[in-house]
Amino acid sequence: MKPKKGGVARPQLKQEYCSFQLEVRPSAIHRWGVFALEAIPKGRKVMEYTGELVSRKEGKKRAESNEIHCLFTIDAYWYVDGAVGGSGAEFVNHCCEPNLESRIVKRHVLYFSLRDIQKGEELLLDYHFGKNQEKVVCKCGAKGCRGFINVVE
Ligand SMILES: [Zn+2]
Repeated sequence: MKPKKGGVARPQLKQEYCSFQLEVRPSAIHRWGVFALEAIPKGRKVMEYTGELVSRKEGKKRAESNEIHCLFTIDAYWYVDGAVGGSGAEFVNHCCEPNLESRIVKRHVLYFSLRDIQKGEELLLDYHFGKNQEKVVCKCGAKGCRGFINVVE
């Protein structure tokens, strides 16, 4: 990782968790994003979201003490914290019209392509924040943007 003059070092992806050529780059949506360096067909495993497996109690504590956190909800009891040992999938931004979906398989979080993704496209996931969670304004810019990262119904 070579930090640029006056800039912040670009985060790196752990290639062993990526099924395609991907790269972290500055994103128009939020800070960093993950971009496809090759075309990805629909319905393929793109990457795995890795991190430390933490309990709900510990996850809540971490969420409250960090403004930006990377907690992925696995089920009613577990979170994966991408800030610790993350594959880089924690840099995938939210979009209300995503091109990825997450599937949880035996406590592994896998990102699959929802449609064909072109080379150079940013990878995007709908975070589905709960309607009872703190409201987060969405800046994804999609036509169907619901205004918040939280789900409405
Ligand atoms: Zn949006």
